Amino acid sequence: MKFFNLEIETLPIEKLRKLQSERLQDLLGRLDKIPFYHDLFDSSGTDISRIQHIQDIHLLPFTRKSDLRDNYPFGLFAVPMEEIIRIHASSGTTGKPTVVGYNRNDLEVFDEVVARSLVAAGAQPGMRLHNAYGYGLFTGGLGLHGGATILGMGVIPVSGGMTDRQIMILRDFQPEVLSCTPSYAQTLGQEIRKRGISQDELNLQYALLGAEPWTESIRTEVEELLGVHATNIYGLSEIIGPGVSQEDWEEKGSGSYIWEDHFYPEVVDRDTGEPLAYGEEGVLVFTTLTKQAMPLLRYWTNDICSLHYDPGARRTHIKMGTIRGRADDMLIIRGVNFFHTQVEELLEDENELTPNYQLIVSREGTMDQVDFKVEASEQLFSQLMDHGDFRSREEALKKRIKENVGISMQVEIKEPNAIPRSEGGKLKRVVDLRSSS
Ligand code: ADP
Repeated sequence: MKFFNLEIETLPIEKLRKLQSERLQDLLGRLDKIPFYHDLFDSSGTDISRIQHIQDIHLLPFTRKSDLRDNYPFGLFAVPMEEIIRIHASSGTTGKPTVVGYNRNDLEVFDEVVARSLVAAGAQPGMRLHNAYGYGLFTGGLGLHGGATILGMGVIPVSGGMTDRQIMILRDFQPEVLSCTPSYAQTLGQEIRKRGISQDELNLQYALLGAEPWTESIRTEVEELLGVHATNIYGLSEIIGPGVSQEDWEEKGSGSYIWEDHFYPEVVDRDTGEPLAYGEEGVLVFTTLTKQAMPLLRYWTNDICSLHYDPGARRTHIKMGTIRGRADDMLIIRGVNFFHTQVEELLEDENELTPNYQLIVSREGTMDQVDFKVEASEQLFSQLMDHGDFRSREEALKKRIKENVGISMQVEIKEPNAIPRSEGGKLKRVVDLRSSS
C-alpha cells in the first residue's frame, strides 16, 4: 500500500481547489453561528457571502491563541455539548491550557489523516506500532493510536517514559514502527547502544518523529542507532493533533505533505499578516476546512516555515519545510534579536554534546541573564566526571556562542536526561522568566 487514500492524495490541483472552495463556504456558514466569529465578522466588516473561492481566504480575519484563551474552556465549540465525544488540552506555558473538542466526524478526520501519515511514513496494515507518544490530554498518544487502528496495525500503547520497559517491549514484541518525539527516539537509541543490544534483536523499520523541532543531524543519529527510516510528523492540537502534515519516507528531506483537503495552509508575514509567496518563510496559518466541533479560521500557529509544491512528489498536496522556530521564540536579549535555533546550529558540530538543551532567560535589575544548559552524551559526561574538566569545556562553548551569536551566556553541561521533559515528552527549549518577574 503506497497511499491510504489514493484518490484524495493524488487529486489534481484544480479539483483540490474546487473541493477547498466548497468546503470553505460551508465552513463560513458554520462559523457564523458561533458568537465569537459572528462578532469578529461584524467588527472587521467581513461580508462572508462575498468569499466564493479558497484563493480569497486572505480577505478573512485571523484567529489567535488568545481567542482560544478568552473563550476558555468551551466557548468556541460549534456543536451541542452532547455531540462532543473527546476533549484534549495542550500544555500551554502560561496559565490555562488550550482546550479542543471533537465530535464523531472530527475523530474520523483525525483517524484518516493519521492513517495517511502512517502509510507515507512506511507503515502497512499488519505491522505493529510502538506508540511512545504520551497518552492523556496531549493529542499525540491517542491521535497516533486511532489512525493506526483504522489502518489495521497492531497498536502497542506504551505511552511516554519508563525507558527500561520500552526497551523490553521493543525487543520482545518486535514492532516495525515507532512513534515518539525525536528527543525520545535519541534516548531510546542511545540506551539500546549502551546496553549492547544489536539492531538484529529489534525489528524496527520506520519511525514517525514530531511534536517538537528537530534537525537532520538528529535524523542521522536516530536512523543509525535504531536502524529505521525516520520521518517528520507535524501537528498541533488546535488544528487536530499530529497528522496535519507528514513526510514520505521515500521523499525524505523534501518537506512534509500537508493534508490540504482538510487543513488549508498559508504562510504570512509575521509583522503585517500579508500572504507570502511559496518558498518564503513566515508564520504558518491553518483553516480547518472540515472540522465541526471546533472549527478555526486562519489560525495563527506561530510556527515559522515555508510552503512549496514539489514537482517530483507522488502526491498532489502541498509540502511544508522544517519548522524554523516559533514567532514568539524570538528573544530580545540585551537589545540583540536572537532565535534559540542559532545555538542549536552551533551544537551540531560540538562533538559529544546532544541537541537537548534549554535556555533560561531572567533579569537581574535591568540586566538580562541567560543560562544555557545542555546535556552531554553518556561518554562525554563520564569523561568529564573522571577528569573534573567541566569548567574548560563549558568556557570553550561559552566563547564560541559569544563569538557566533553575540550574546554571553552562563553555560552548564549536564548529565544525559537531566533537563526535565513535559507530559508529552517534549523538552522546552526556551524558558523566559522575564515576563513573570
Ligand atoms: P503542546 O502545546 O501541549 O505542546 P501541541 O501538540 O498542540 O501540544 O503542540 C503543537 C506545537 O508543537 C506546534 O505548534 C509546533 O510548534 C510543535 N511541533 C509539533 N510537531 C512538530 C514538528 N514535527 N516539528 C517542529 N515542531 C513541531
